[in-house]
Amino acid sequence: MAADTLSGPLLVSWLVDAERQLDEQAAYLTQLDAAIGDGDHGTNISRGFRAVGDALRESQSDVAPREVLTLAGKTLLSTVGGASGALWGSALRRAGRAAGDEQAIDAAGLESLVDAIVEAVVELGAASPGDKTMLDALVAAQTALHEAVAGGASLADAVTQAADAAEDGARASSTMLARKGRASYLGDRSIGHQDPGATSTAVVLRALAQVVSCSR
Ligand code: ADP
Ligand code: MG
Repeated sequence: MAADTLSGPLLVSWLVDAERQLDEQAAYLTQLDAAIGDGDHGTNISRGFRAVGDALRESQSDVAPREVLTLAGKTLLSTVGGASGALWGSALRRAGRAAGDEQAIDAAGLESLVDAIVEAVVELGAASPGDKTMLDALVAAQTALHEAVAGGASLADAVTQAADAAEDGARASSTMLARKGRASYLGDRSIGHQDPGATSTAVVLRALAQVVSCSR
């Protein structure tokens, strides 16, 4: 059975599942960052999400979406030194604020959350789509989510289409020239390598699609 809204506990399941998948992908993510950055992305992001999982695993069954997202954001900000921690940390805190007092977030609510995440990343990182950053996965997901919801898709289908688009966006980052972050120091030599942050962002969104599609 697919969920038609996001509850606090479902968001906890999402973040705990993201923790597991990022842990499995940590060596690959670090390898991507070693090619065009400083080789710490897998370590950074998996350490951060492990701390998020530890902070959230024992959450109460009536935990509100805002609480989950805000605590996850704060935890990432305080445990990850790299750019990705600051960006995801601010993004999740902003998403928490966008969740307001809702206990059950529907597809339209998720659109607001994803809009808040994109806004926070743009505000803090000043990147544009095409700059070879996590934004290339996020904005692709945002666009796909809006199109799916406008077309009347269920929450599960909309999030799945968003995760598919994030994976396409991450793959597309390979041909881009890096204009932000450490990879930008490489100039033309950044071309031909997939962006680590876009790749981990797609992992995080796939985890959301999976928990929404398979929640009972
Ligand atoms: P650091 O670059 O500090 O070592 P990480 O290796 O954890 O941090 O994260 C690198 C990722 O952060 C990049 O692959 C890119 O996706 C993302 N990133 C870096 N700078 C920016 C920025 N200004 N805007 C958006 N994303 C960025
Ligand atoms: Mg790095």
